[in-house]
Amino acid sequence: MHNGRAVGDATLSDRALEVLLGDSLRHVVDLVLRARDGLVEAHAADGSVGFDAAGARWVRGRNPLERRDPSAFSPLSEEIANLHPGNRANHYPLAYESASQLFADPRAPDLAVVHAPSHNWEERGGHRGEHGSLDVVQSRAPIVLSGAGVRRRGMVAGHARMIDVAPTLATLAGAEPEGGCLLAGQQGRVIDEALDGTSPRRVVAFLLDGTNANVLHAMAQSGELPTVARLLGEGTVLSDGIVASFPSVTLVNHTTALTGVHPGRHGVLHNAYYDRAVRRQVVTNARATWHLARGEISADVETLFEAVGRRRLGFTAAVNEPADRGAGYSTFDLVRRGEVGELRSALPDPREVPAATRAFVDAARDYAWATAADHVAVQQAIAVGTGAAGNPRPRLLWVNLILPDAAAHNGGPHSEMARAGLRDTDRRLGAILDSLDWGAGETAFALLADHGMEETDPACKGDFDEALERAGIPFRDEAYGFLYLGEARARARS
Ligand SMILES: [Zn+2]
Repeated sequence: MHNGRAVGDATLSDRALEVLLGDSLRHVVDLVLRARDGLVEAHAADGSVGFDAAGARWVRGRNPLERRDPSAFSPLSEEIANLHPGNRANHYPLAYESASQLFADPRAPDLAVVHAPSHNWEERGGHRGEHGSLDVVQSRAPIVLSGAGVRRRGMVAGHARMIDVAPTLATLAGAEPEGGCLLAGQQGRVIDEALDGTSPRRVVAFLLDGTNANVLHAMAQSGELPTVARLLGEGTVLSDGIVASFPSVTLVNHTTALTGVHPGRHGVLHNAYYDRAVRRQVVTNARATWHLARGEISADVETLFEAVGRRRLGFTAAVNEPADRGAGYSTFDLVRRGEVGELRSALPDPREVPAATRAFVDAARDYAWATAADHVAVQQAIAVGTGAAGNPRPRLLWVNLILPDAAAHNGGPHSEMARAGLRDTDRRLGAILDSLDWGAGETAFALLADHGMEETDPACKGDFDEALERAGIPFRDEAYGFLYLGEARARARS
């Protein structure tokens, strides 16, 4: 599993580790991960653990990953009562599997810095609400399965993993395993506990980017999200959701959800990372490169669209989804074919979008942009989903909506803005489902997110890059946390 980087970096790695785990960075650095001697190590100030996917192999001092309960800080009242947990109080669900997988890719960093939950790095592109970490609130995404082919169990205790999404949806779309696999190279499992064994005619999946599972569940229960509540009432929801793979960022986990494999296998490692062998910076998550990000997905794995298409189970469609390789229809095909120069130019004035919370459209540029993008996504989903766009009715329709992420980043996951983002999104889901007659009894639905979202502390500031620079350590930092030592410094995008 190890990468072939120069052995001479060992001293540099230890020096950097000492700086990162120093007292002055205790409030911003939660953990530092690295690969060493065939294992992956997690280091905190008062202890370290060496592990592989199967578990811990050694511990020195206190094991910084000793607490791994996927149900920690849930429901919402528990999360709010325990904001900004330190490493000793925090939980890291499935941490050994979720972290070790990353280092199977030779482009993994020398050191991966896991930001403390409280760390607010708005001056480096961060937000009031954040994700990306290994901890439970940032890793825990909701999953609701509903409709035809799904058992009506309501909320059941338990969790699954992001890698389990694609095998589950492939099964609902009628795929049979071949050599034990529904998708090439598959690492996830089918979430059998939610399925009734019958085969629905269609599958419609909604990815609500950046939705905190506790917030979604609480708002559905209180009646604020009637569309989500109906899906929940007609299906099964796992109380502890699906655990994202590390790092818990957008394109990494969209790709994980759609391939059934961890990032260390599918190759989309972060928003940006560095391929040392060819001295190339890979930037996946930027507006200018979103439509090209799927080019980074390994040829050795299969997307859900490819798995359904290869079996000739029917037409597939991806609305506003960058990890769309193999989809019969995709929003980003328009961009890649040059029909739309830049997606932004095709967007309506957000102030004219129906079902939008005008106060936040006016107050926050990100809220406005996401509102316009999601409105177009709804129009596309209705046109494609009903066949009005001239396509066959999709066997698999996947719709990505981004407002929940934008709103929760901007205001924090517990803010009124985040809640408004989910209410607006619930109305958009309702419009799509109404157009599809709620699947006419022959459609399975999935509602999920790609990662969680955690409240940072606006007073918690600090920059580990500056500390490394002061210590004279040469490095480049990709996506603010993937450190490549001994490289010419590039204060990379985050
Ligand atoms: Zn996201």
